[in-house]
Amino acid sequence: MSLATYDAIVIGGGHNGLTTAAYLARAGRKVLVLERRHVLGGAAVTEEVVPGFRFSVCSYVVSLLRPEIIRELDLPRHGLEILPLDGTYTPMPTGDYLWRVNDHAKTRREIARHSRVDAEAYDEYGRAMVEMGRFVKPILSMLPPDPTSLDPRGLRQLLFLARRFQRLPRQDQYNQIQLMTMSAVDFLDQWFETDVLKATMSASGIIGTFLGVRSPGTAYVLLHHYMGEIDGAFRSWGLCRGGTGAISNAIADAAREAGAEIRTQAAVERILVRGNRAYGVALANGDEIHASLVASSVDPRLTFLRFLERGQLPDEFVEDIHRYKFRGSSGKVNLALDALPDFPVPRHTNAGAHAHLRGAISISPSVDYMERAYDDAKYGRFSRRPYIDIVIPSLTDPSVAPPGKHVMSCFVQYAPYHLKEGTWDEKREEFGDTVVNTLAEFAPNLRNIILHRQVVTPLDLEREWGLSEGNIFQGELTLEQLFFLRPAPGWAQYTTPIDSLYMCGSATHPGGGIMGAPGRNAAMRILRETRR
Ligand SMILES: Cc1cc2nc3c(=O)[nH]c(=O)nc-3n(C[C@H](O)[C@H](O)[C@H](O)COP(=O)(O)OP(=O)(O)OC[C@H]3O[C@@H](n4cnc5c(N)ncnc54)[C@H](O)[C@@H]3O)c2cc1C
Repeated sequence: MSLATYDAIVIGGGHNGLTTAAYLARAGRKVLVLERRHVLGGAAVTEEVVPGFRFSVCSYVVSLLRPEIIRELDLPRHGLEILPLDGTYTPMPTGDYLWRVNDHAKTRREIARHSRVDAEAYDEYGRAMVEMGRFVKPILSMLPPDPTSLDPRGLRQLLFLARRFQRLPRQDQYNQIQLMTMSAVDFLDQWFETDVLKATMSASGIIGTFLGVRSPGTAYVLLHHYMGEIDGAFRSWGLCRGGTGAISNAIADAAREAGAEIRTQAAVERILVRGNRAYGVALANGDEIHASLVASSVDPRLTFLRFLERGQLPDEFVEDIHRYKFRGSSGKVNLALDALPDFPVPRHTNAGAHAHLRGAISISPSVDYMERAYDDAKYGRFSRRPYIDIVIPSLTDPSVAPPGKHVMSCFVQYAPYHLKEGTWDEKREEFGDTVVNTLAEFAPNLRNIILHRQVVTPLDLEREWGLSEGNIFQGELTLEQLFFLRPAPGWAQYTTPIDSLYMCGSATHPGGGIMGAPGRNAAMRILRETRR
């Protein structure tokens, strides 16, 4: 039964869906958000998995959230507080380590301990990445122009980009082209000689992709993850007080204040279409809700292949959606701890005993280690020795654990969605053991201080969060799936072949991460098209 009529229904209460809802509501539209889970946030969610311990179950650090969204939605007033994450510590099997911190002079000294040449190159590299980030930044809030179209607006944007490119110093032009084509390691090889430095830096190139650090195309993903660092808003990666769910909750609060209605435990089953126009949704409980437009923040496989019937879409488009690559490659192990893990205290500094645990801890001791982790995944196994990116948010934000206890978040790659042998439900504990055993090689007390272990597999990401094939970004962030190709050629501007049906999640430009840009861009497009 249709109970109400809205201007817009947003499918999915992840941070992008909520962002779209907030902007539409602020423009005076009557908006309804429908979220399948019992809690808002999607992959940016905090849950009390064990009493007293609040896990950022999926995403765990923030840097990419667009400053204009923070400002326009006044998120600090709605509870958003970003706490600095101080650097990255990489322990090595030899007992040595690499410890980069936010203090530039200290990091330079630390890198010089490994290689004087690299310490010089580090400054140059930082400068070049900032330049390239500046070049790419305006693209984040752009409707991606389609180079195959003669639409004057798109042509003007292409010209704008071409002019900006021409104005770059020659070396930055070369760098930009190399970033688009090279592997993360090949790109870093041009600057650095220290293996552990290259291994740790290259890790950002593989996050959320089914590629290795030596696979061409991964250099660009380095830049994607570097982008937040150039905004000056947080300068680098940070933690959100209360976990990443607090980001989603702040956006939800802003949306509600502007008049949006938000429902949880409201699973959409179908998008209602009449005469090629979306006019509402049908929920799993049988309710129908009608609206002038529908914006979907869930991935394209769910939106187009599950919520719609095949005959409702052009064949060519359906084929493009079938071709869109998910190939999830990551998992998560969240630990409730009785004490802090004893990762060796850096000898070469006089920082406090736990200072090295306040930033990210990266299990990426060498480029070969990283590539071997990928080798396992290529042949359908989770990595026997995985790349692990760890944070211990309770050190910075005591609100997430009882006094004296800690939460430790371990992002793990590779955990391929398609296993050659067995199922993820059968392999869950073995995978969790592999992660703990790998960590215990560096922090021997770990096994004895675990109070609770939550293992999130790629299958869990699909079943519980609706992320097809467990891809953390609603589809790989590879060049052939970015910009005017995300999620499909010709349909990268948040519209779809169905009138009044829009896309507004990470599967649209500029892609995944707690960024909010897809949600905001989609709202701008919707408001432009439906101007009253
Ligand atoms: C394990 C993991 C680690 C990550 N780490 C980081 C990180 O540290 N930093 C970072 O910036 N990014 C990280 N990311 C990526 C980032 O979290 C996501 O790109 C981002 O949160 C996606 O937001 P979204 O709103 O586009 O989509 P989602 O968060 O996927 O939201 C979609 C929502 O739709 C809901 N939904 C699904 N089906 C239905 C239905 N039928 N009806 C109604 N609702 C439905 C889902 O429950 C979900 O709430 C990580 C992601 C994962 C999974």
